[in-house]
Amino acid sequence: MSQRVHKLLSVVVPCFNEQEVVNLTHRRLIEALGDNSEFDLEIVYINDGSRDRTEEILFELAASDSRVKVVSLSRNFGHQSAITAGLDYAAGNIVAVIDADLQDPPELILSMIDKWREGFDVVYGIRAKRKERFHMRLSYKFFYHLYRFFAEVEMPLDSGDFALLDRRIVDLLKSLPERNRFIRGLRTWTGFRQAGFVYERSARAAGKPKYNFQKLLKLAFDGIFNFSTRPLTIIFLAGLITSLISILATLVYLIARIGDYKIFGYSPGDVPGFTTLIIAILFFSGIQLISLGVIGEYIGRLYQEAKNRPAYVVKEIRSEELAADIQTRNRHQAADDREYDSST
Ligand code: UDP
Ligand code: MG
Repeated sequence: MSQRVHKLLSVVVPCFNEQEVVNLTHRRLIEALGDNSEFDLEIVYINDGSRDRTEEILFELAASDSRVKVVSLSRNFGHQSAITAGLDYAAGNIVAVIDADLQDPPELILSMIDKWREGFDVVYGIRAKRKERFHMRLSYKFFYHLYRFFAEVEMPLDSGDFALLDRRIVDLLKSLPERNRFIRGLRTWTGFRQAGFVYERSARAAGKPKYNFQKLLKLAFDGIFNFSTRPLTIIFLAGLITSLISILATLVYLIARIGDYKIFGYSPGDVPGFTTLIIAILFFSGIQLISLGVIGEYIGRLYQEAKNRPAYVVKEIRSEELAADIQTRNRHQAADDREYDSST
């Protein structure tokens, strides 16, 4: 009796008030992925604090299908946190992340697996066409371009969370301690071989979109502020430029006062106290802006340190000596060791 050792494919599905669609989604997932000679299947549903019957339906699915794991969160933590929970509980050698509303076709996971076999560690979906309401499309477009402008990590435009991840990417994501997670950014940040995959995003199979403006704004802010301290740098630059202008204006007013020249038809000497006042305002606002900028730069650095992302991730090491512990070794681990040594 020869038994093949199967690899495990996990599919992570975040669900928030999806009672209209989860059963259908489950059926589609099983149809597409349930019968695979190479992979065993596990579906990890995350109930993100749904207030409808979603949890009940998911528990029924778990009871009737041993391939189903349900992780139910204590309240609504948001899409990105739900995916994070899913990655934590997924055991697969490869892990797919897909929305519950069938906007991302489950069948595509098979093509993503093909790509993974070619050696890609991350295969992510790129949305070719959006079938959402116009203002949503516009806000997404705006957001992605804003993100592009600010972010220090290049993220492919129009990629969402629909993706297939190799185990080592999942482990890496799990090792990142930051809490406000912007998964698609972190996923890009991990590096390794990544491949995009253009697909047409259909309309939601049933139910209403769960992202409201507030949640979308939070996502956008996480995307920008988690991956960039550029806004702080912009304040700094603005401060610098304004103070230069202020200093120039200060000089101009001073000279006009002394030489009794006119500015905008008035001579500063005509109004007692005007010169002193304007100089004080310009000078101190300039100083304040520069100081804010300097403080901002420090805060930016603090922020980056606090996120505690490793400074680099090793893909491979060619060295007989080091081959023994090829495991991802990153700087903050090394720093931890050092700290430990010096304190003993
Ligand atoms: N979702 C979630 N928690 C939330 C909001 C959304 O788990 O707070 C899930 C939702 O159930 C769906 C996915 O995230 O599976 C994407 O949500 P939605 O379809 O509303 O977003 P969109 O397709 O508009 O990006
Ligand atoms: Mg959707």
